Amino acid sequence: MGAWPGASLPTAGGLLIKFGITFCLNNFIVFLCLFTSSLLYFLFLSFLYFPINSVLLLRFFCFLGRKQQVRTVYLDFNATTPLDPEVKEVMLPFLGEFFGNPSSIHRIGRKVRAQLDDCRERVARVWKCSASEVIFTSGATESVCQAICGSARFLKSKGRHLITSSIEHHAVLNTVEYLVNKEGFELTTLPVDTEGRVAPQDLDNAIKDDTILVSVMAANNETGAIQPVADLGAICQQRGVLFHTDAVQWFGKEPFESIHQFNADLVTICGHKFYGPKGSGALFIKSPLLPDPILFGGGHENERRAGTENLAAIAGLVEAIERFVPTPVFERSRLELLNCRLSSMGEIDGINLLCPLAKRLANTASFTVPGIDSMTQLAALDLDGICASAGSACSAGSLNPSHVLSAMGRSDNEANSLVRFSLGRETTEEEINLVLASFLNFVEQVRVF
Ligand code: PLP
Repeated sequence: MGAWPGASLPTAGGLLIKFGITFCLNNFIVFLCLFTSSLLYFLFLSFLYFPINSVLLLRFFCFLGRKQQVRTVYLDFNATTPLDPEVKEVMLPFLGEFFGNPSSIHRIGRKVRAQLDDCRERVARVWKCSASEVIFTSGATESVCQAICGSARFLKSKGRHLITSSIEHHAVLNTVEYLVNKEGFELTTLPVDTEGRVAPQDLDNAIKDDTILVSVMAANNETGAIQPVADLGAICQQRGVLFHTDAVQWFGKEPFESIHQFNADLVTICGHKFYGPKGSGALFIKSPLLPDPILFGGGHENERRAGTENLAAIAGLVEAIERFVPTPVFERSRLELLNCRLSSMGEIDGINLLCPLAKRLANTASFTVPGIDSMTQLAALDLDGICASAGSACSAGSLNPSHVLSAMGRSDNEANSLVRFSLGRETTEEEINLVLASFLNFVEQVRVF
């Protein structure tokens, strides 16, 4: 038997097969040589010219060589929290037994309607407002959009001037930008100080006769900076202007007495930031305000938000509100101790801590490391099993400088190097020690190269 298939055939077909196989093999060998040499060349270049890449590559090879599995440390609780197991239990009947549509007249529908009404009453009890002032939504993005677009359109005959701050989440920034570009509204964007806080005086100065709406967040998701939101709301009340606050990062973290503590007409919250389900949110709309709807369809949510209610999400949200808001689930005293330890990284030369702990959320510590971009830092941490973030989750996949840091007057180099650690109920001292060891080791390695 010949070595080649078809070797015994002295025909043109045999020759053709021989030629074909030789041709493929040759090409494969050439490809292999090129691939190996370009890989070696790439490695050589990486080591020669890009010290940060070299450190990353070294760490990657160490990662491949590890015998045990790397322990995962989750420090991205501002992006989302896990669903609390007891909250999940409360949701399950709505994925089974209570499947009815709350708008149906029959008994199956009525049973679910009763549950929905009860959910609204329970939120109203925690918020200390009337049940008709609570609207359930699909999350913060929808609540923000409803609050801002709905109010601006409702009030446009009175004026077209809107005010927001330069450190808002993109849910707010892109909504106001849309209103300016597509619907002829005018916008003033308030600056922040070097710690990322809005000054009430700046708001007072910015309000004009035709100002109809102000939107400023309660706490910033990237730096944790807490805003003087009650003071801002009071100014709006005095000047007769509507005030909306995106309180997504406040709930479950900061003290909560009643929804009126923000002096706001509209308050946005969402469930997955305090151990509730994703796709759940609510909007407080102070009576008798009636913003225009942004969704059109049935008369759900007292004609204010069309679409069949997602009872599982609503039940989970309400359970999380009751359990985790009046007594914040992010326990300040415990998290503050862990955060102090983590924040000690800011004392190291070349690592800058943003915003003093007394003025920020106790669970958030953000740093800049000029010269090492956010993506590189996140990749290095990830190789050690540490999940952190470069700021808001939706911009984590891009290399755009943080708009929050730019607003705080930081250079592009610094704004490109943000890393945010956000702690949660599950965070332990041991985890913080792992983060300190990993991060400091990485920064040191980059320096040595
Ligand atoms: N507002 C703030 C302050 C946030 O942190 C987020 C999410 O990170 C949102 C709004 C948008 O939330 P969602 O994407 O859940 O709608």
